[in-house]
Amino acid sequence: MIRGGGRTVQIGGVSLPQAGTTAAFVTGTGVVLVDTKLPGWGQPLIDKLKEVTDKPVTMIINTHTHMDHVGGNVEFPATVEVVTHENTAMLMKEMRPVSGGPTQPNLFKEHNGRGLPTRTFKDRLTVGSGTDRIDLYYFGRAHTGGDAWVVFPELRVLHAGDAFGGKAVPPLDANNGASGVEYPQTIAKAVATLTDIDTVITGHYQTTLTMTDLKTYGDFTGELVQSVQAAKKAGRTIDDFVKTWTIPDRYLKEGYASMEHLRPMRPDVEVIWNETK
Ligand SMILES: [Zn+2]
Repeated sequence: MIRGGGRTVQIGGVSLPQAGTTAAFVTGTGVVLVDTKLPGWGQPLIDKLKEVTDKPVTMIINTHTHMDHVGGNVEFPATVEVVTHENTAMLMKEMRPVSGGPTQPNLFKEHNGRGLPTRTFKDRLTVGSGTDRIDLYYFGRAHTGGDAWVVFPELRVLHAGDAFGGKAVPPLDANNGASGVEYPQTIAKAVATLTDIDTVITGHYQTTLTMTDLKTYGDFTGELVQSVQAAKKAGRTIDDFVKTWTIPDRYLKEGYASMEHLRPMRPDVEVIWNETK
């Protein structure tokens, strides 16, 4: 899928729902990739890019520490700059198991540090200038404790990574710093700050979405958190909550769906439950 007058290419989506969405931004000096999918995806990404540009990949931005977003990093030359949030840089050194999900092989250790971040940021970072400018933001904890929000101002495009993975219960990787309780506030900050975006690339959804969709996701997440907290305060149990909770009608109409077959929601409910005093 070619976007922005041939200046970006989005690879993945429908055909590769299990691998994170990769965005490619062709600048005057080289290609900037946002996320590199699973291990083994480096070369296929390079091959695909050759269809749109002769320029080499010069920078990788990873939105967070999960294997399906950083796995291809090790297949690029060591000269490629790798940019992440400072917490993600720390987490990528460890590749901790995902809460409620799989263990992650320490791919970077196996490759003598190849593909690890070489440049980090805390709250905000701008790389490039003019039409090549990219703005990175950190708005707080969400899917992990180091989710980067990547903006291409010239194209009015945002890559939200798994902080907005799709229209479903947010996977909360507490082992890598996620917070269910803070998640809605993090999204609210993104929505309030990023006012010049037309197109939102998500971590896994089949199509691009909009900032209105992101705002709705924030509402959905906020309602889920409130429901879990109300259940805990009412003396119910996590299992009872998971058994009886259903996606509210308003969100079903928006295309929200249960992902129980891919990832049961119980561990995510438990994260919110444990954060609720
Ligand atoms: Zn993820």
